[in-house]
Amino acid sequence: MPDATASPWLISLPIPLFLALGVLQFALGIAVAVRFRRGKSQIVASPSEWFTCERESQIQELVSRLQTLAQDMAGDLGSYQAEVSEIATNLENCSRDADTGSQIVLDFVTQILSANVKLQKRLESMEEQIADQGLAIAQHMEDALTDALTGLPNRRAFDTALNQRLSEWNRRGTHISLALVDVDHFKKCNDRYGHMAGDAVLKQFAALLSETVRGMDLVARIGGEEFAILLPSTDIEEARCAAERVRTAVAKAKFHHESTTLRMTLSAGVATARLEERAHLLLGRADQALYAAKEAGRDRSYWHDGRQALPVFGEISAPADPDSEFATIRDDLRRRVAEVADG
Ligand code: GH3
Ligand code: MG
Ligand code: MG
Repeated sequence: MPDATASPWLISLPIPLFLALGVLQFALGIAVAVRFRRGKSQIVASPSEWFTCERESQIQELVSRLQTLAQDMAGDLGSYQAEVSEIATNLENCSRDADTGSQIVLDFVTQILSANVKLQKRLESMEEQIADQGLAIAQHMEDALTDALTGLPNRRAFDTALNQRLSEWNRRGTHISLALVDVDHFKKCNDRYGHMAGDAVLKQFAALLSETVRGMDLVARIGGEEFAILLPSTDIEEARCAAERVRTAVAKAKFHHESTTLRMTLSAGVATARLEERAHLLLGRADQALYAAKEAGRDRSYWHDGRQALPVFGEISAPADPDSEFATIRDDLRRRVAEVADG
């Protein structure tokens, strides 16, 4: 049977030792708060680090880590406070018999408790702030990767996706193709109908591109009126078809601004990644093909075979025979001359 008159073990401790114990506990509370702060600064990574991860999953992970940390922290502090409260209750219970020394200890523990309550309140408010901050970071990341006018992924997002796909290609041999698409004579559209009309066309153009490609393809706005379409698991034949499909869809479409209806065309340059090819080289080849499409008269697709740019149309249908073309023109002229002679 325990002796009912015996002092609790805490009271039997020498006062300096008990004070040291209290200070240690208080320091523990501060240390937990410091850990919390350090944890927070690790999570808020530099912008360059953000873009090395998958956007969606990273946002989710970031927010959930922030929330878990804050909840853990509140939990840690809660149990710490419960322990100190228990000590205070023990001291209070035996304070009837306590001498002046134990009264000092009681006062000290009361101070610890009051400091702890303040710390807990502060933590609760930080928990809310962290949750808000998590949402703000997620929004910021989203904005940093999105083109404001069209809502498409921007150049930065595109570069990240391209590099990821190129790594997959080199690691697993999963083909990756790229189509660069540029609106033809877009400056004229602005000059004739105004900048607002140009913006409206760009938005509709972006939506049409997204509708026309497969769900797994990535359409990004990488410049003023220039777009890139990343075509994963796509070889050059399929990529040429995709470019033609997009080109035809745009050529057939009607674009609207207020009461004006506009027609637009695009030129496209296509390339498929070669083994160990770096992003800038693939982009360079697709750009050469796009340039060739513009040079050839616009509203057409070209592709790059690794050495030169070639017309996509020429690949799909039989190449034009110069002799037969000449014969067609000659026959047409003859027919017209005959019509004029006949009156
Ligand atoms: P090309 O067929 O050779 O591509 O001719 P283009 O007129 O399309 O090309 P150019 O580079 O001469 O002009 C591009 C125009 O696109 C000029 C620029 O003002 C316009 N532009 C770029 N970004 C935007 C935008 O966000 N909104 C609008 N309305 N116009 C833009
Ligand atoms: Mg253009
Ligand atoms: Mg351009």
